[in-house]
Amino acid sequence: MYNWNLQSDIDNDQIVTEIEKSQIQHDDSSEGIIFRHLLATATANETENPRIPIYVKFPLLESHWRELKSLNPDLYAAARAYYIYARAVNDFDGSSLRINVTVPALRRLKHEVLETGSKTATAIVSVWLSMELTLANPIQAINELEYALPHLPARASTRTLENALSSATAHEWLRIAFTELSVPSRAYFHSMTIIKQSSLNDGSVTWAYFTSIDSLLLQTKYEDALLTSNRALEFVKNRNSELEMFLILYQKLRVLLMGFQQTRDSEIRSVINKMDTIDTVQIKTQAEELFYLYQSYKAIAESDENLLSKAIEQYKKAMLESLPSTEFRAEHLLKKELELTRIYDAAGNYEKAYEHSKVYNQLLFEKNTEQFKLSSPSLTDGIARDIALARYRQQELAALRDEKIGLSTDKEAMKTTIFALITTILIILALWLWIAKRQSDTLAERDSLTGALTRRAMLKSLKKALKSDSTSCVALLDVDNFKKINDRYGHLVGDEVLTTLTQTIQKRIRKSDKLCRYGGEEFLIYFSDTDQQSAKRILDELNASLSRQKLWSGTDQKFSVSFSSGLLDVNGETNLDTIIKACDDLLYKAKREGRARVAAFSF
Ligand code: GH3
Ligand code: MG
Ligand code: MG
Repeated sequence: MYNWNLQSDIDNDQIVTEIEKSQIQHDDSSEGIIFRHLLATATANETENPRIPIYVKFPLLESHWRELKSLNPDLYAAARAYYIYARAVNDFDGSSLRINVTVPALRRLKHEVLETGSKTATAIVSVWLSMELTLANPIQAINELEYALPHLPARASTRTLENALSSATAHEWLRIAFTELSVPSRAYFHSMTIIKQSSLNDGSVTWAYFTSIDSLLLQTKYEDALLTSNRALEFVKNRNSELEMFLILYQKLRVLLMGFQQTRDSEIRSVINKMDTIDTVQIKTQAEELFYLYQSYKAIAESDENLLSKAIEQYKKAMLESLPSTEFRAEHLLKKELELTRIYDAAGNYEKAYEHSKVYNQLLFEKNTEQFKLSSPSLTDGIARDIALARYRQQELAALRDEKIGLSTDKEAMKTTIFALITTILIILALWLWIAKRQSDTLAERDSLTGALTRRAMLKSLKKALKSDSTSCVALLDVDNFKKINDRYGHLVGDEVLTTLTQTIQKRIRKSDKLCRYGGEEFLIYFSDTDQQSAKRILDELNASLSRQKLWSGTDQKFSVSFSSGLLDVNGETNLDTIIKACDDLLYKAKREGRARVAAFSF
């Protein structure tokens, strides 16, 4: 399933052979049916490449799932989570909007699996859930992963559906998430865990070393970074891989350059000599971008300005060329800016470093904003946890600041990526607070522009009110010629009109009355315990006071606005649809009769 249509150690023909050998096409047990559906779903939307040749034969029923669940809860959890994911990927054509389906479905599945009593099954669903949450709320994704971590299956050499997302994967994702959130100390912790726990002697350990050195560099812990580099070198010596050797030597070179340029000149030269003996053709094909990064640091070590600018250009070009083929566009662009910041930093060109760190911050900000936009409020209800993490980052920030207390001039402050880091952290903190506020606004059910009730909140409380209070009025208001106001004075002035109107109404009505923004420039007022005449008087007075309001802060031109309204004495009627329909008809009548007036009726 995972290797189909991919270039990997097993090709499509071999997969077909395996499928035939497994006899899965003829297995009509629940498990067989479920697995046929999984396989078919995995490539159902393929148009350009071949699909997995499998026929589902039977529809997938709840009874099949039930049987699998009682036989093997862990496999059930893994299969069902994967199925939810794969179905949604197809339905949403690969768009991230699928999370509005997958996240609630996986949450339900998690609760269901909790009842089986299998911690592993629950952890498996959690890790799938966290994968989806990454697209919406990286902090919740982290919480979910940390929750699952102690019970996740370990990575094994035989890959099954249950261990496809293993604890090693979880540590890896946590490492990436904390790096992105600029919490390098946590990123470091998770890469070290991968190194310590891994009984497997494979390339992922080298990558864990690579990233733990990176985290230490971001924290400017050069002594520790050097120690870890030397330990990593011991490890890769036995790995018999030129690429892995290159990766670690590259990190060591950066550590030496950033932390010990003055004192360890001969060591720097010896690292470069070692790296230059490695077959560059091979490195260039496997890790082209890294090769040019190496060239840049080498140029810095040798004070070769020409080589430096050439290497930087080649790096930028390579990053640009690989951009279309990456699924992680935002991450790719972020990485580019971060690396350029670090190169210029190491080269002592602080102005350029600062420029790139600004772009980096901007991109990170956009990426986070984009992620949060994707998520509906129901997906991001863990504000308390977000705030806990924000506090965590503040601690990190304070620690970093203490270390850098000696920096006084601007130039010195720029001399380190810490400066960029602090800006980033502050921006993200501000963003979180803004989001937390927006979410609590939604919970309070207030319109964000005017502060009036939202339509949903209004209809909910109207339902209650109409039952208990039979002598009340409802009015639907619509601003007159609002389009012209927008066209003539711009949308900002239009918005100002809406907020002014809201405030004017709010001041005039009683606490027991209710005002809601029903649509763009339409408002609904509920007058409790009020007869039609009194309500009409209030509406007329509102129009009169609006006609005196001629000055607006968004424009030098003077003008005033009016509204038309349909007013209904509900007279015991409790059906909301009927009431609003009647108000709407009356409003239309008021517009027809010349605007700036009330059309009233009593049931
Ligand atoms: P009428 O007197 O017949 O109601 O004329 P009108 O121009 O008000 O017509 P209509 O109700 O069709 O136009 C509503 C306009 O309100 C269209 C839309 O662009 C604008 N609008 C809706 N919501 C907002 C908003 O939040 N801010 C601003 N500035 N304009 C909005
Ligand atoms: Mg309108
Ligand atoms: Mg209007």
